[in-house]
Amino acid sequence: MTTTTTNSVTVPGPASPYQADIANYWNAEARPVNLRLGDVDGLYHHHYGIGAVDHSALGAPGDPDAEQKLIAELHRLESAQTDVLLDNLGEIAREDFLVDAGCGRGGSMVMAHQRFGCTVNGVTLSSKQAEFGNQRARELGLQDHVRSHVHNMLDTPFDTGQAAGSWNNESSMYVDLDDLMAEHSRILRPGGRYVTITGCWNPRYGQPSKWVSQINAHFECNIHSRREYLKAMADNRLVPQAVIDLTPDTLPYWELRATSSLVTGIEEAFINSYKDGSFQYVLIAADRV
Ligand code: SAH
Repeated sequence: MTTTTTNSVTVPGPASPYQADIANYWNAEARPVNLRLGDVDGLYHHHYGIGAVDHSALGAPGDPDAEQKLIAELHRLESAQTDVLLDNLGEIAREDFLVDAGCGRGGSMVMAHQRFGCTVNGVTLSSKQAEFGNQRARELGLQDHVRSHVHNMLDTPFDTGQAAGSWNNESSMYVDLDDLMAEHSRILRPGGRYVTITGCWNPRYGQPSKWVSQINAHFECNIHSRREYLKAMADNRLVPQAVIDLTPDTLPYWELRATSSLVTGIEEAFINSYKDGSFQYVLIAADRV
């Protein structure tokens, strides 16, 4: 089985005008909320956090380091989110190959390599992100194990059955779920594990709420429902092993973030929709059968 892929970062560009827009969005993205958190320890995430806020780690009012302490705490919760994703990949050996679909600046890939010692390759539509991720991997001496490609996740450069595990960390709302699950199913070996952490609208609410529509507009994405995830998996030989509602675990992160100087304006939509039950933050882990 091949465990490495092409040495080049340049592979086919965006496959549609929409994907070109998404590539532009992420090429231009340099929000302090993402970069300053990554600067804390060099793990750059573009996802949200989970877990209880450690109030003792935050500065008291008037503390000149209060902002930096808050940034460090938000970052800790974002890395805790990746830890939960990795916990759900199951047994991964050093010689295994993992795929991060929609890898952003590569923080989750570095964490996966540090935990399992294995090779991790990711795809992103953004050449800026791929260059950033590959540069970080070189700085850490991990370039032989952690690699980002500019590529469409619906048509990845990886071999059929090559991956022991694959995931989407807050990146599945940019694609058709049927096409996405078909591609994960192709690259995973039988018995391999797929994990997604995503916001999804709750079928019990009925339809996407106004808050969910606001989030879609803000990120130029298309949030799917929980039902659509389970159906697309079932149709593509991915059998859910765990469905974990992380909504209560992510609310403290949002409430803390809403108090910070790093607000982006979308915090209210997340908090309100998590609270009114129209939107959920879920982890789904599935076995490739
Ligand atoms: N998973 C990362 C980044 C999440 S942000 C993290 O947890 O930090 C969303 C990512 O999805 C961006 O990197 C964007 O380029 C990527 N993306 C969106 N649509 C994509 C597609 N069709 N193919 C590959 N990557 C895609």
